[in-house]
Amino acid sequence: MDNKATSSSPRIIPRPEHTISRANISEQARKVLYRLHDAGYAAFLVGGGVRDILLGLRPKDFDVATNATPEQVKDLFRNCRLIGRRFRLAHVFFGRDIIEVATFRGHHSQAEHVEDGLMHEGMLLRDNVYGTLEEDAWRRDFSVNALYYNIADFSLVDYTDGMSDLQQQRLRMIGDPMVRCQEDPVRMLRAIRFAAKLGFSLDDSVVHAIEQHRTRLQAVPPARLFDELLKLFLKGHALRTYELLRQYNLLAVLFPAVDHLLKQADAFADQFIRQALINTDQRIAQEKPVNPAFLFAAMLWGPLLHAVNVLRQQKMSPIQAMQVASGDVLEEQAQVIALPKRFRLPIREIWAGQSRLEKRQGRRAHWFMEQPRFRAAYDFLLLRQQAGETGLEEICEWWTHFQTANEHERKQMTQTRRHPSHKPPKLPDTNEA
Ligand code: ATP
Ligand code: MG
Repeated sequence: MDNKATSSSPRIIPRPEHTISRANISEQARKVLYRLHDAGYAAFLVGGGVRDILLGLRPKDFDVATNATPEQVKDLFRNCRLIGRRFRLAHVFFGRDIIEVATFRGHHSQAEHVEDGLMHEGMLLRDNVYGTLEEDAWRRDFSVNALYYNIADFSLVDYTDGMSDLQQQRLRMIGDPMVRCQEDPVRMLRAIRFAAKLGFSLDDSVVHAIEQHRTRLQAVPPARLFDELLKLFLKGHALRTYELLRQYNLLAVLFPAVDHLLKQADAFADQFIRQALINTDQRIAQEKPVNPAFLFAAMLWGPLLHAVNVLRQQKMSPIQAMQVASGDVLEEQAQVIALPKRFRLPIREIWAGQSRLEKRQGRRAHWFMEQPRFRAAYDFLLLRQQAGETGLEEICEWWTHFQTANEHERKQMTQTRRHPSHKPPKLPDTNEA
């Protein structure tokens, strides 16, 4: 297919021939579309919102595309803020909901990009030229994400054959995937995210481009990777995402230490991650909050235990081994994906909490239970048992009981807690406060 933004006529699908009705669109998104339209601008719903409604899913958010500039959008809405360096966008706020309004983006030639310093080794650094609807369609990532719902006549506008890919449940990249993955390597992760979420297959050309360009993810600014990673694992399809990341060898780029263990056929590390992701998906399905630090603590638990063992063999004390290994594992991971400080601390606390949970005599158990970091450490302990780590039954039951016990029972529990058959789990002992 021709991927150039030269004139080609789109397929227009009139209202009676598609399933998007205004009732599927949030009231706020409708308001934004109509306000733009009434002011004489073109206004379209685009991206995941259109795609998901066509698939019978409930969209999580709505993106609007328009020919109004961000400043013009701002003039129309009181509750509007302009954001973004890489892409300049307008956010229209309705309480906690945000409607993202993007001005049609145009197309630079590669030569122009290089000349203007917008390109570095094939990667687009900025992409902020306004354009036409047609150009806007061609610069999007996947054909199924480039369907436009026109508020003027309720038709769908399809430049990239997105409708037919949608029907065939196929993720096809717009243009040449070899170029598009190079321009923006994050598109490879988006391919995985949508494949996991929608159950779509990746077009062969996308698979091929991932094989060729996967290591380019290392050049993506770590903070952007971090954001993208949270999207990969916190959208309710984490287990499938993990499987696809492994299948396409992207785990090796994102979590090298984890991948290394898995390639040594460390069945426990795999089982542990799977269990953590199953739990995460369940929580999201139940609309419960998920703590991203917990997720990272789980992903890196295998490498952590491995690092602790190595240090222990070098005769380091258990406390020190745990502290050093935690730092090393997080440091190594942060080389690939930025791990903000506020984020590393709770991960370390979850890990350090594992040995704290073993110390239950006297007032220690009471004290630890009152700490804000207790809950995550306790949940992590349960996860370890659920994932098949042996020797944890007694301690899990003990803590579960302790939390609901009355004062009298608690006193007894902390005095007579040692069960004769209890073998403490093989875990490094730490004393971090
Ligand atoms: P969801 O919101 O369900 O996660 P989405 O498809 O709406 O999925 P967004 O990240 O909200 O994804 O992006 C909105 C739209 O912007 C996409 O559908 C796509 O058309 C375009 N887009 C986003 N990121 C890129 C990118 N890296 N390259 C090209 N187009 C992109
Ligand atoms: Mg979206």
